[in-house]
Amino acid sequence: MKQEYVIGIDLGGTKILTALADLEGNILAEVRKPTEADKGKNSVIAKIKDTIYEVLGQTEVAIEEVEGIGLGSPGPLNIEEGIIYHTPNLNLDNVNIIEELKDVGPPIFLENDANAAALGEKYFGAGKDAQDLIYVTVSTGIGGGIIIGGEVYHGASDGAGEIGHLTLLPNSDQKCGCGNYGCWEAVASGTALSRLGREAVKNGEDTLLADLVDDATEVNGAVIAKAAKKGDQVASEIVEQIAEYLGIGFASLINIFNPEKIIIGGGVSKSWPLLQDTVLANVEQRAMEALTAEVEIVTSQLEDKIGVKGAIATALVGLKELS
Ligand SMILES: [Zn+2]
Repeated sequence: MKQEYVIGIDLGGTKILTALADLEGNILAEVRKPTEADKGKNSVIAKIKDTIYEVLGQTEVAIEEVEGIGLGSPGPLNIEEGIIYHTPNLNLDNVNIIEELKDVGPPIFLENDANAAALGEKYFGAGKDAQDLIYVTVSTGIGGGIIIGGEVYHGASDGAGEIGHLTLLPNSDQKCGCGNYGCWEAVASGTALSRLGREAVKNGEDTLLADLVDDATEVNGAVIAKAAKKGDQVASEIVEQIAEYLGIGFASLINIFNPEKIIIGGGVSKSWPLLQDTVLANVEQRAMEALTAEVEIVTSQLEDKIGVKGAIATALVGLKELS
């Protein structure tokens, strides 16, 4: 019997991670290459192709046995047509990636990386038994993927799920990458966490943070978490602040979408034990009781495989829709 496989490609600003998987999503081989986006569009596309052929080369699998290729990319995108519109991190502007990869052979399915991550959780992670879930990644920014009735909610032009840009503090002077002020990601992401830590050190506050940093280490989320665990008051207050803002955002998501699960990923989720109590207290205080009773807030179990697992899930979903 002919074996059937899929390939998942996690296309990121720093690396391309490509994996060959069976139709259950078990990864059989993987290849990682630096994106080197500064070398330009053609170089990035050639590298994507290289990872595909190299991952096949690690196994006995022929490209003819690959049923589909899922590609998770930063947006904005047109997923039907395969267009990546504008991604400063990738140096790809208005590139039709499906067209560019057509000569590889199998059908290509494009998905926004955060949506793909949500699919990865739904198929292989903490969201396996859920039909309605939201994946929230909290790292340098805050991104999200919304799954309604088992399917990604794309919106009118594939732009849905930009949850990091809900205005959390209307009078904030924190400018967001999107141009607005006081966005959720501008005040509650890992970047915001580090900023608050750096400000505390700069203002000469009485904190361990100043001792934990040296020329090689700057104030980052891990340093702040370490200080908070040691009982540092300033670090604990910073963590509390971020947790409160995260809780406020989650409460809104719960009220709007009534999800069964919110799954948190990204670097900041590693500090979930520190954040949890305040996040949940804010959710309880601010979201509607009947809705909070339904929702479970958990952390991702897919860790650094979330992107590629999401791309594999994207291929499987695409194939299901084709058949
Ligand atoms: Zn924003």
